[in-house]
Amino acid sequence: MKTNEKGMMKLITDHALYSDKIRSLKQLGSEAFFKCERIQDQMSVSVTCIESAISDYKALMTDPTECISFEEFFLVVVDEGSVCKHCLECRRLKKERAEAGRRLGQIRSAITKIGRRLQQDGDEK
Ligand SMILES: [Zn+2]
Repeated sequence: MKTNEKGMMKLITDHALYSDKIRSLKQLGSEAFFKCERIQDQMSVSVTCIESAISDYKALMTDPTECISFEEFFLVVVDEGSVCKHCLECRRLKKERAEAGRRLGQIRSAITKIGRRLQQDGDEK
C-alpha cells in the first residue's frame, strides 16, 4: 500500500492534534487532582480519594488470600461514596490520556515507517 500525500498530511495533523490533546488532558487532570474535596475540606489531610483508595488497597493486599484487582476494589470504594467527583474526573481524564497516548504511539510508528520507506527509496535512486 502506498501512502499518498493526503494520508501523510493526515498523520502529521493527527500527531499535532493528539500531542495537544495529551497536554491539555494532563493539565485538566492536574487541576482535578488539586480540587479533591478530601484535601479541600480538611487541610490536614493531604491524600486524595484515589491515593487513599490505593493505600487501602495495598493494606488489603498484605493478606495473601485476597485476590481482588485494584479496578474491582476501586468500584467498591466508588459505590461506598468514598471518592469525590473531582477524583472520579481525574481518573476519567487519566484513562482518556492513556487512550490518546496509545493513538499517538500508533501515529508515530506510522510516520516512522513512512520515513524508513522514504529513506530506502532515496538510497535506491
Ligand atoms: Zn477526591
